[in-house]
Amino acid sequence: MTLTNPKAKILVLERGSIYLSEHRQHYSTPLPTPGDLELRPWSISPETLENEYVQKVCGQIPFLGGRSTHWSGWSPTPSTKELAGWPNDLKMQLQKICFGLAQKFLGVIEANEINAFENGNYLYGTFQSGLKSRLDSADTIESVDDILHAPLAMGNDRSIKFSTVERLLSMENVTVIYECTAEEILHDGKKATGLRTSQGTIEIPNNTKLILAMSTLPATTLVLNSFESPEFPQLSNVGKRFTAHSVTSVIARVPRQNLSLPDNAPDVELGAVYISGIKDGGQYHLQLSGVAYTQCNDTNNIHDICKKYTANSIPKECIDRSRDDIVVSCSTLGELDYKNKSNQFNLTNNNRNLTTNGELTFHLNDQDNRLWDLMDSVTFEVMNKLSCSANGDDLEYWHETDKKWKKDPPPSDQIRNKNLVHDASTMWIGDNEDTEAPVGLDYRLKGVNNVYLTGGALWPTGGSWNPVLTIVAMAMHLADTM
Ligand SMILES: Cc1cc2nc3c(=O)[nH]c(=O)nc-3n(C[C@H](O)[C@H](O)[C@H](O)COP(=O)(O)OP(=O)(O)OC[C@H]3O[C@@H](n4cnc5c(N)ncnc54)[C@H](O)[C@@H]3O)c2cc1C
Repeated sequence: MTLTNPKAKILVLERGSIYLSEHRQHYSTPLPTPGDLELRPWSISPETLENEYVQKVCGQIPFLGGRSTHWSGWSPTPSTKELAGWPNDLKMQLQKICFGLAQKFLGVIEANEINAFENGNYLYGTFQSGLKSRLDSADTIESVDDILHAPLAMGNDRSIKFSTVERLLSMENVTVIYECTAEEILHDGKKATGLRTSQGTIEIPNNTKLILAMSTLPATTLVLNSFESPEFPQLSNVGKRFTAHSVTSVIARVPRQNLSLPDNAPDVELGAVYISGIKDGGQYHLQLSGVAYTQCNDTNNIHDICKKYTANSIPKECIDRSRDDIVVSCSTLGELDYKNKSNQFNLTNNNRNLTTNGELTFHLNDQDNRLWDLMDSVTFEVMNKLSCSANGDDLEYWHETDKKWKKDPPPSDQIRNKNLVHDASTMWIGDNEDTEAPVGLDYRLKGVNNVYLTGGALWPTGGSWNPVLTIVAMAMHLADTM
């Protein structure tokens, strides 16, 4: 796996089986949704459930490839400003080398360059340009920082989103053991000596390194159950920091003529734009996926194209083939304040199962609530940019509860997601000055010689950017560091 030693032998222990061998986009048959497959091997504390609007954190897809088999492909690269609070040395390595390598590995491409081709036409063409130019006018919104053709991991021959399964199984030096759940790391006080799993104990020989690549909360549960704090004082802050992203989702439509597409524009086209913003140190971004279509097409054809090639999903019921429309689905993500000490992940005493005994407590603070209000208002301001009439008459919003298009914006409880996504920061990485950080710049759990970490748990702060590109860049940096 390492950049310097591509022949290093890798044994992958995967709790599930193989479910999909490529990204779900590739399959035309109906598949379960991420919600149907989701596993949440942790609980939410009773006080959070009682007091908070948000009730859960999205879970895992417990099969080889994890969530990469279903992800939407948004792959922004965080800027220096967005990485505020990250160790300088790490930032420099990521920006100089690893972000570029990760973009290449994932096949990240700007939406206006995607080669998806159906019905004799390129899909990301005139509408993509028109949508981006139209939304460029959002730069007048005070907190907006950047407006981009969406960076998406679709830059391959078939414009299918990247998934780890194909890459992992094509590597000769990788062996996978399926249905093998890691339960506890055994150690001698200095290093891991074995891994207790659902298939028995696996010995860890001296020259072997254990890398936790099992997403944020399950990895935190494993570490908390394996390294108790009196013996490992440097790990006493594991789970004492927690961040994630809150989400607002809105779908709007306007007449297709609003974008003045050329006469010879294809009947169905797609677009995707990424808009990032920051206010009082709180980061947010909007990810907008759109479809422009004419009446000539049947609903199935339009929907099949959306299913295969859009970034955000666009529900079939939002496509009305009796009209010439543009439908835009916008998800707006914002960061939870990483300094909020009420947010923690700890073990519970009343559950003896070592893979499910972690409990998450979170309370959105004033900063989080102010940012969420801002995210909602910016979302509607940006959607208004699609309108061509002074009073916004031509703009309609999808109301999920009534399953109807209406001119009024949907109320807050319909657009604010009750789930947090992109849980992070429970075992953040820090330089020598950050004595509280459980992980050092070598990605190793402090005080344990041979256990390393990947994934969102490492993030000092969560920002709002989508996580995969940064996760991959850091995994590459870890490989190089080892
Ligand atoms: C619908 C959807 C859309 C998304 N869209 C985007 C997007 O556009 N851009 C983006 O950047 N991110 C997106 N994400 C998030 C992204 O997929 C995740 O952040 C990313 O996959 C996390 O990678 P990971 O390797 O840390 O964890 P995962 O992908 O969750 O993989 C963890 C793996 O570890 C295995 N595992 C867990 N516990 C154990 C154990 N105890 N023993 C053995 N194996 C174990 C799991 O089965 C799984 O295979 C999306 C997620 C979903 C669900």
